[in-house]
Amino acid sequence: MRSKIVAGNWKMNKDVTGSKELANGLVAGLKGKTLNNTRVVVAPTFVNLTAVKEVAEGSVIEVAAQNMHQEKSGAYTGEISAEMLTSIGLKSVVLGHSERREYFGESDALLAEKVNAALANGLEVIFCFGEVLEDRKSGNHFSVVEAQISNALFHLDAAAWGSIVLAYEPVWAIGTGETATAEQAQEMHAFIRKIVADKYDVALAQEVSILYGGSCKPGNAKEIFSKEDVDGGLIGGAALQAEDFIAIIEAIQ
Ligand code: PEP
Repeated sequence: MRSKIVAGNWKMNKDVTGSKELANGLVAGLKGKTLNNTRVVVAPTFVNLTAVKEVAEGSVIEVAAQNMHQEKSGAYTGEISAEMLTSIGLKSVVLGHSERREYFGESDALLAEKVNAALANGLEVIFCFGEVLEDRKSGNHFSVVEAQISNALFHLDAAAWGSIVLAYEPVWAIGTGETATAEQAQEMHAFIRKIVADKYDVALAQEVSILYGGSCKPGNAKEIFSKEDVDGGLIGGAALQAEDFIAIIEAIQ
């Protein structure tokens, strides 16, 4: 179901003490605030998932993983399966982040397998994609994004889309301080909704939450979130400070 979502990707930051401190800061800062059905999600590192979950228990904060392996179990040293994530009570996983694509060689085909494994285990997928700067400069950004989405998600049946959240993250805006303008975000989000509508139907496309990610900060969040096809944000750097993250959550109200 389409909802407003502000999700924080903590990446490889914060040890267990720092993760609990940040989670406690969020719990305290959000207590008693009216969120108007906005979902708040945080994605700490694997080793801190349980600790953050314990802190978040009873609050509005949902906890998600940043990644997972596509296989159930076996000789995959260093990997974590969907079954392991659900065994600690997780309900969502981020897949396809540009850093996974770039540094760990995650292809659309691999991501399709990961998406299947996540959905088969009842996990919601926050699916990230976005063009690099050269694609935007050469005007290929729409076709790149369309390929990323169709290659990894268009094999799914319509019912599966109830567990998909899309996160458009132009790579040139991630961690660079350079944000897409609200107009650029809206233009791409409307395009994304259109290709989903063309593949499935308009009603399904209207029900998909599409988040923007890329240097989203307290100072620019309100304008970006004001656009009709932007349903919230996936936040990196600004999710590491409780005050900033809360200010971004407030910007969507
Ligand atoms: C991200 O990594 O998902 C992200 C959006 O990072 P930042 O907000 O730091 O650009």
